[in-house]
Amino acid sequence: MSNITKDLAMFNELVEVLITEEGIHPVAERIEANKLYDVLDLSLNAEEMVDAEFKEVLRDVLVSTPKTATNLFFNQLFGGRQSKAVLGDLLAVLLNNSMYTYKVAGPQVGIEQEIIRQSCHLIGYGAASNGTFPTGGSMSNYMALVMGRDAKDPECRLDGMTKPLIVYTSKEAHYSNDKNVSFAGIGRNNMRYIATDAEGRMLPRLLEAQIIEDMKNGGIPTYVNATAGTTVLGAFDPIDAIADITEKYEMWLHVDGAYCGSVIFSDQYKHLVSGVSRSNSFSYNAHKMLGTPLTCSILLVNDKKHLHDSFSNDADYLYQTDGDDFNLGKTSFQCGRRNDALKFWTLWKSIGTSGLKNIVDQQFSLADIALDYIRSHSEYTLYSFNDSISVCFNYKDIEPMALCTALYEQQITVVGFGSFEEDTFVRLVTINANNEKVDILNFFHVLEAFVVKTPNLPKVLALQA
Ligand SMILES: *Cc1c(COP(=O)(O)O)cnc(C)c1O
Repeated sequence: MSNITKDLAMFNELVEVLITEEGIHPVAERIEANKLYDVLDLSLNAEEMVDAEFKEVLRDVLVSTPKTATNLFFNQLFGGRQSKAVLGDLLAVLLNNSMYTYKVAGPQVGIEQEIIRQSCHLIGYGAASNGTFPTGGSMSNYMALVMGRDAKDPECRLDGMTKPLIVYTSKEAHYSNDKNVSFAGIGRNNMRYIATDAEGRMLPRLLEAQIIEDMKNGGIPTYVNATAGTTVLGAFDPIDAIADITEKYEMWLHVDGAYCGSVIFSDQYKHLVSGVSRSNSFSYNAHKMLGTPLTCSILLVNDKKHLHDSFSNDADYLYQTDGDDFNLGKTSFQCGRRNDALKFWTLWKSIGTSGLKNIVDQQFSLADIALDYIRSHSEYTLYSFNDSISVCFNYKDIEPMALCTALYEQQITVVGFGSFEEDTFVRLVTINANNEKVDILNFFHVLEAFVVKTPNLPKVLALQA
C-alpha cells in the first residue's frame, strides 16, 4: 500500500470514531486550559512514532476537540455538517491546487467562476460583475473597503492617503470594519457609527445627517457598510434606503452578508436584502448559513474593473499563459490561494439551488420554533425579532453569561451570549440545518433541567438607582 492509501485507511477509522463519539457525547469532554499539556500528548519530539501509537494520539485529540457539528452546538454562526461539502473539501486537499492561474488550477477556475456567476445573477448584478473567494468575511469586508477607497481617490494607490475620506457603518456591524479602516489607512477616527432602530437596523435618516455634517467639515464621504444579518441580533439593514443615499453622494455601498447573505437563495427570505442589486459589492459566507466547512467566503463586485484596479499587480513570473479571465490571481488579495470553491460547488451541484434554498428555509423555521417556545413560556424573556436566526432570550432572571459558562463547563450544551444596547442575553443560533424541531425543543429542556439541578446560578440584578 502507498503511504497515502494507508493514511486514508487510518483517516476512515478515525472518522468512524469521531462520528460515533458525536452521537454518544455531543459536547466534548472539556479539558481545563491549564491542564491541556498534561492531559493530551501534544509534544513534538525528536524521534518518530509508530503508527499504532500515533493513531491513539490522534484519537485522543479528536474526541476532546469541541464538536461543532452536533445537535448541542449553538455557540457560533456556523454549525452542522453538509456532507457533500465535506466531500468536496477533502478532494480539494488531495488535489492541492493554488487558485492563482489556469495553468495550476485548470477546471477549478471554472468551478470558482461558475459559483460567482450564478451568485451575481441571483442578486441582480449585470454582465460587468465578477468576484473572488477571500479568506473569510473579514477579508471580504477589507477588500470591499479598499475598492471603495480607490474608487473615490484613485491617487491613493500611489501617494497613500492624502484626503479626509470618511466611512460609515452601523453600531451593530461586525468588528472587522473597525480593524479594516485602520489597515486601509483611513483611520479609526474616520469611521462613523450610525445608530440603529429598536430592532438593530441602521437608520438611513441618521446616516444622511452624518454625511451632511462631515461634508460641512471638509470630509469626503466614501463608503457605507450595510449588514445583512448583524452578528448579535441577525438584523438586516434597509439596503434600498441606504442605496438612495450612497447614490446621491456618490459613495461605495458594500453589503456585508457574511452571516445571513445566503438568504439570496430563498424565495421566501430574499426580500430581506432587497436593493442589493444597487450595491457596489456584496459578500456572504457559505461556511455560515450554507454549512460548508470553514472557510468559504464569496465577494461579488458589481463592476469587476474595481477588483482589477485595486488588486492586480503584474507578475511576469506567474502570469505566463491563458489571459486574465482565467488567471484568478489577478483579482485576489493573496498569491497562493486555497481552493475554497470546490466544497461549495460539490454541495450546490449535488443538491441544486433548491437544496440550498431548503437549507436556508430550515434555519428560519427552526428559529420560528424557538420563538414560539419562548413566547409560550412565561419564564423566558425574548430580545430578538422575527426574520432572524439569532434567537436571543433570558431564562428566569439568571445572569446569561454565568449560565452559558456553566452550561459549557459542565458539557451540557455550547451556546453563547450577546448584548444589544442595555441588555445581555443568551443567543441561540439556529444555523445548523441538520437540526430538527426535536433538537430545538431538546435544547430548552436540557437548559431547564440544568437550572433545576443548579440552584446557585447568579441572578440578573434589577436595574435600580
Ligand atoms: C462572521 C461575520 C464576519 C466575519 O467573517 P469571518 O469569515 O469570520 O472573517 C463579518 N461580518 C459579519 C456580519 C459576520 O457575521
